[in-house]
Amino acid sequence: MTGIEPEREEAAFPQLTKAQFARLSSFGTPETVEAGEVLYGPGDPTYDLIVIEDATVEIVQPATRDAAEESLVRFGPGAFLGELNLLTGQAVYLIARVVEDGRVHRIAPERFRRLMAEDPELSDILLEAFQARREILTHNGASRGLEIIGSAMDPASLALRTYAARRRLPHLWFDADSVAGHSLLKAASLTSDDLPAALLPDQALKRATPGELAETLGLTYRGDSGGSVDLAVVGAGPAGLAAAVYAASEGLNTVLLDGVGPGGQAAASSRIENYLGFPRGSAGASSRSARRRKRSSSARVFRPPAKSSRSTATSI
Ligand SMILES: Cc1cc2nc3c(=O)[nH]c(=O)nc-3n(C[C@H](O)[C@H](O)[C@H](O)COP(=O)(O)OP(=O)(O)OC[C@H]3O[C@@H](n4cnc5c(N)ncnc54)[C@H](O)[C@@H]3O)c2cc1C
Repeated sequence: MTGIEPEREEAAFPQLTKAQFARLSSFGTPETVEAGEVLYGPGDPTYDLIVIEDATVEIVQPATRDAAEESLVRFGPGAFLGELNLLTGQAVYLIARVVEDGRVHRIAPERFRRLMAEDPELSDILLEAFQARREILTHNGASRGLEIIGSAMDPASLALRTYAARRRLPHLWFDADSVAGHSLLKAASLTSDDLPAALLPDQALKRATPGELAETLGLTYRGDSGGSVDLAVVGAGPAGLAAAVYAASEGLNTVLLDGVGPGGQAAASSRIENYLGFPRGSAGASSRSARRRKRSSSARVFRPPAKSSRSTATSI
């Protein structure tokens, strides 16, 4: 039971054909792994896409202040690990631990980007799987990895929650006035002066802003390794997204910066009608078709680095 529709669950854990598996693993480097070995874990800024030939690997939510470590899912031969943060740049927040010895293929980030650009069939399968896995992670124990506590009527708390929701970060919200909120405040040794707070397994951000949270999660724009980009678009609402997608599809090295997250006002609506390009309407923030269109380009979306909550940085 994952808490999402059966067809989304199927998309999250696709059965690759032999030919697809061979193509996917050909992008990687083979490696023998042993039970107990950690393939990646919290603190790693990024990770490889790992394709399993004949090992078993479990994905584990690390222990938090109020809960023990929890095994979320196991992957066996023919499967691949990874979720949306392989694309967004968000730092690793789960542990991948080998349960049974075997062989895997590691696809390093550079090779992964090549794979996504060169093999549309595999890139569709991977993208759908990563999105569906993120949906599952927001419904299971992974959401304990980020606990936001504040007041429902406080603008700073709302800004933090909006950011987490727009970035689809697995998280739990606690109203500080509720019984659960009170006990969490106590467990984290926080007072009402510290609100809103964002609690991560190894740290508590007091009076947290979306910018600080973004920075902590590794979602801020840190500059381009090549030194410069061809185009920077500020604002990832429908207008900015369209501009960035078309610029990238014309081959421009494009970054898209947003103070909150992609979608703009459209992300606030459960249904958008009469919008160009969506003759049958679009389901606002959850529009898969819009995300597919965006995926077809190589535009990268970030939050600008910041001193205040408005100007801090993060990537999609
Ligand atoms: C509830 C609701 C329902 C709607 N329904 C419909 C509908 O049915 N049909 C329809 O056609 N339209 C609808 N709209 C309007 C539609 O959503 C907007 O016209 C559209 O989103 C405008 O797109 P935009 O990209 O120009 O600006 P926005 O969507 O406003 O996006 C601007 C983006 O820029 C970012 N930003 C702003 N300043 C900065 C800064 N200094 N630094 C970094 N980032 C910044 C913001 O965070 C935001 O993400 C609706 C709007 C709302 C709120």
